[in-house]
Amino acid sequence: MTQDIYESLAVHLDGLPGGFPRTESGVEMRILKRLFTEDEAALACRLRAMPEPVERIAKRTGLPPEELSDKLYRMSIKGLVFRADTPEGPRYMAAQYVVGIWEYQVNDLDEGLIKDMNEYIPHLIDPFLKLKTKQLRTIPIGASLDGQGAVMPYEEARKLIEQQNKIVVAPCICRREHSMIGKGCGKLADACLIFSGAAHFYEKNGLGRPISREEALQILKKAEEDALVLQPTNAQKIMAMCLCCGDCCQILKSLKRLPKPSALVHTNYYAKVNGEECIGCEICLDRCQMEAISMQDDVAAVDTDRCIGCGLCIPTCSADAIDLIRKDEKDCYTPPDNVIETLRSIAEERGLMK
Ligand code: SF4
Ligand code: SF4
Ligand code: SF4
Repeated sequence: MTQDIYESLAVHLDGLPGGFPRTESGVEMRILKRLFTEDEAALACRLRAMPEPVERIAKRTGLPPEELSDKLYRMSIKGLVFRADTPEGPRYMAAQYVVGIWEYQVNDLDEGLIKDMNEYIPHLIDPFLKLKTKQLRTIPIGASLDGQGAVMPYEEARKLIEQQNKIVVAPCICRREHSMIGKGCGKLADACLIFSGAAHFYEKNGLGRPISREEALQILKKAEEDALVLQPTNAQKIMAMCLCCGDCCQILKSLKRLPKPSALVHTNYYAKVNGEECIGCEICLDRCQMEAISMQDDVAAVDTDRCIGCGLCIPTCSADAIDLIRKDEKDCYTPPDNVIETLRSIAEERGLMK
């Protein structure tokens, strides 16, 4: 019975766009058992990928609405399901494992969960890197866009933040889990910017604190200083912006292991060094989170197969020797309008829309 309900939950989570791949070792089942009681697992399986009021879910499950309301609320506080508070009352929907349930565990990590998650990560991330549509994309840091001509509004971090009415900053779970096992990079800890409905959920669940646009812009500045890659939601209307380092970010770490990461990232830019200007200081090598720059005869060179166009190498080059180049228009990526479209595309690619 125990195994059955967790099996059902694994199938249910794999049916959501973010997926939940199975492994030979069964590590994913250990993770589910750490996070969900049997009762919670059974209830999670009954939620749909759209927000619904308790009464409607009660009809399906046969549970009394009051009991259901209490259980779902507690599960949302544990980050096992998503809750949207509306003037008509809470609406509940299934949360995908990533981006979702895992990120909601940021305040409840322990060494066992971290160890299991790190064993599971390659199984979880690698198949999704190969999909045409990803959950995140990369945009250049603001300082690297100076002098650029046609920059789309969804490529400018500053503009993306200025259009937000509700912003919460949350601790970066990747850096927190690395630092809890003695492998922290020491960079910016509060580095996940969350917007609109998701921001309300984060705030009410104690996962982050509300901040003004000005503070968000200061965080952006600090991210540039700390050499963090800007990874917003893969949509024109974003729900979050991750500020990521190559040491801890599970996506960048997975990409870095591959020979041609740039082909697997939604980015419209790459960097190019003007060899005649380069003074060989090697500062850009440290700044690059993708190991895309190497020295050749004392001159820096960018490997375009590895460069994800984050722009981090550009403002710190005292010789002004690096340019950010926009790809040819035919190779540029236009993100979906919103996250629902992004997730729908992923679901279609995974054959979930039958
Ligand atoms: S994806 Fe980036 S910002 Fe988000 S939790 Fe991981 S490293 Fe932190
Ligand atoms: S930071 Fe600039 S000058 Fe220094 S190695 Fe890189 S490209 Fe050359
Ligand atoms: S070379 Fe590295 S730091 Fe520079 S834009 Fe490319 S990925 Fe970013």
